[in-house]
Amino acid sequence: MTWFLASKDLRARLLWLRRYLPIAVFAMVLVYQVLSLFLLRDVSDILHFFADLTAYGVLGPLAAWFTIDWIIQRVDERELAVAAKAQAETQRQRAIEMAREQERLLAAICSNSADAIIGLDNDGVIQTWNRGAEMMFGYVAEEVVGKHYRVIVPPELQSRGEVEWLTAQMTQHGYVRNFETERVAKGGRRVIVDLTRTEIRNEENQVIGFSAILRDITARVQAEQAIQQLNLELETKVIERTAQLAAATEELRRRNQELEAANEELKKLDELKSEFVSMVSHELRAPLTNINGSIELLLAGTGARYDLDHREMLQIVSEQSARLTRLVQGILNVSRIEAGQLVLQPQAFNIVGLIEKVIDVWETRGAANPLERPRAVNLPSVWADRDRTEEILFNLIDNAIKYSPEGAPIRVDAEANGRFVSVSVSDRGIGIPEEEIERIFEKFHRVDRKDAMETYGHGLGLYICRRLVEAQGGQIWVESVVGEGSTFRFSLPLAGRVEMEPAGDARRVTLGGRG
Ligand code: ADP
Repeated sequence: MTWFLASKDLRARLLWLRRYLPIAVFAMVLVYQVLSLFLLRDVSDILHFFADLTAYGVLGPLAAWFTIDWIIQRVDERELAVAAKAQAETQRQRAIEMAREQERLLAAICSNSADAIIGLDNDGVIQTWNRGAEMMFGYVAEEVVGKHYRVIVPPELQSRGEVEWLTAQMTQHGYVRNFETERVAKGGRRVIVDLTRTEIRNEENQVIGFSAILRDITARVQAEQAIQQLNLELETKVIERTAQLAAATEELRRRNQELEAANEELKKLDELKSEFVSMVSHELRAPLTNINGSIELLLAGTGARYDLDHREMLQIVSEQSARLTRLVQGILNVSRIEAGQLVLQPQAFNIVGLIEKVIDVWETRGAANPLERPRAVNLPSVWADRDRTEEILFNLIDNAIKYSPEGAPIRVDAEANGRFVSVSVSDRGIGIPEEEIERIFEKFHRVDRKDAMETYGHGLGLYICRRLVEAQGGQIWVESVVGEGSTFRFSLPLAGRVEMEPAGDARRVTLGGRG
């Protein structure tokens, strides 16, 4: 019975039951019959009937029910066990399939990798040689499998002991990572590679070989070398250029020093010249004023003291003396302007009124050309030095008369122009060649004409005009056509723009440039 309960084989158990169950039933009936023979001998038939009913009608069916129930339970257990076993088997099969799939994938990756993947045994003999290795080294697998990997190690690296060094590294650390070295392909072509070697172990953890992965880095290394070379060249060039620059800077500094010295010298000379010119002019002005006064007195004298010839000669002396006086005045003006000693006294005044006044003076003198008066009316006031503006006008009209044929009209006009008033002096004279237009405002510049000797002048008038106009915040320019005439214009600021300035503002002409 113990065996029956311990046994897991259902069939064996059922066979056992088939054999012993009828015997057990028979034994139980026998025991009951024997017992009832002795124990129920004296009981009534009714009790006997109930005792039989209990034994055969209740205990019998109960025993049959338990037995069948027990069989059903065992059958169920067995079916469950079979199903579990089948499920476990299916899972195992699936796991095996997956492992195989991964293996195939890995093999495909290894075989098609662009890197060379080489399997070596413990002695360094090539076992596997993938497609990447074929492409990189030009050998197909059949050519190299079974040979030592020295076949791709350059001879000079072999003699330097690289193979032994790699073996030592593997023994010591079990791997070599990102070792940059050189290998030789079929035909002698050199390949620079990045080598990673790892040992392969079996299930018992014994080293059974090595995997070597080589990446071709020839292009990258060559590019790096080229960059290094370029850098080197660049550095050399920078050093050269720096040296050149230093030399040039030194040279420049030396020249600068020389220039500064020369400039200093020139400044001194200039100051000396200005002082000299100013002194001479002053010295000339006083006697000239006396000469002029005396001649005027002589010419004003009446009576028969001088005949006609004397008067003509006195007239010539007077004209020449007046020229000399103008020259001296011009030079004095220039030296004052350049020394910053000319003081301007700006004020608001009517420019048309000033033009009228200057024209009046010229007409009193008996100018050889008719002067047309301004047509402008109601012009706003300008803010400028009245005397200096008169000087500018006088100079421009003087030039217009000088460079126009006798009788040709000269127009003086003015017009408002934004924040300025521009004054124009137009003549119908000889005009100015285009290339001279800019230069005529320079100091001592005269246009080189064939008849230049006939026109008296020193090339100072326009220079002084320009400096005076610019010092008052204006500009001067000219439009001219040779043979047709010229129009000189200069601008002066409107009074409204500077009204807030203190009255009687005195300004010095200190603008740069020496013409
Ligand atoms: P200059 O004393 O020679 O007149 P300016 O400085 O006044 O000196 O003038 C410089 C030069 O400009 C003159 O030599 C002359 O050739 C030229 N010039 C000036 N004004 C006129 C003009 N209205 N018509 C033609 N040329 C002129």
